[in-house]
Amino acid sequence: MLRVKLGPLAAGAINVALVVPSDESCFEDLSFGLEGPVEVNGRITAAGDAQYYFHGDIGVKASMECRRCLNSVAVERTFEVSVLFAEDEEMTDPSVYNIPEYSAELDLGQMVREETILAMPSFVLCKEDCAGLCQTCGANLNDDRCACERKVDPRWAALEQLKNTLTD
Ligand SMILES: [Zn+2]
Ligand SMILES: [Zn+2]
Repeated sequence: MLRVKLGPLAAGAINVALVVPSDESCFEDLSFGLEGPVEVNGRITAAGDAQYYFHGDIGVKASMECRRCLNSVAVERTFEVSVLFAEDEEMTDPSVYNIPEYSAELDLGQMVREETILAMPSFVLCKEDCAGLCQTCGANLNDDRCACERKVDPRWAALEQLKNTLTD
């Protein structure tokens, strides 16, 4: 599915336009859910001895949990990718992907997986001022107030009082 034959490179760049189903093996065990196929568009060019350059973009529709209330949040991203595929095993540059010697085709799977993970935010909020969950009963405080008593730290209470006096 994500394998591209390299033969045609002899005649010039190879255009890539892939619609990769979310159940493709390269997307197994992601920390977020995919809400549709991943789109990979770009071109592969020869970049010297057994090296191939991919430049293009990857479009992802995912859902992540709000960090505070755990509601699902839609995250849509289209991001640019410039990577090199090379046979050299010594490479430690993260934007270089190793390929087996004498490859007749390029497997884009691992690259698409890793670049997608890198492009996703490390956390999301459903809204800037998400009130989160009550730490006592677990109620979603965006929806309604729960019955739990709000315990106010006495030091803050004193400060609050002072603030009130100042604004009066
Ligand atoms: Zn939230
Ligand atoms: Zn509560």
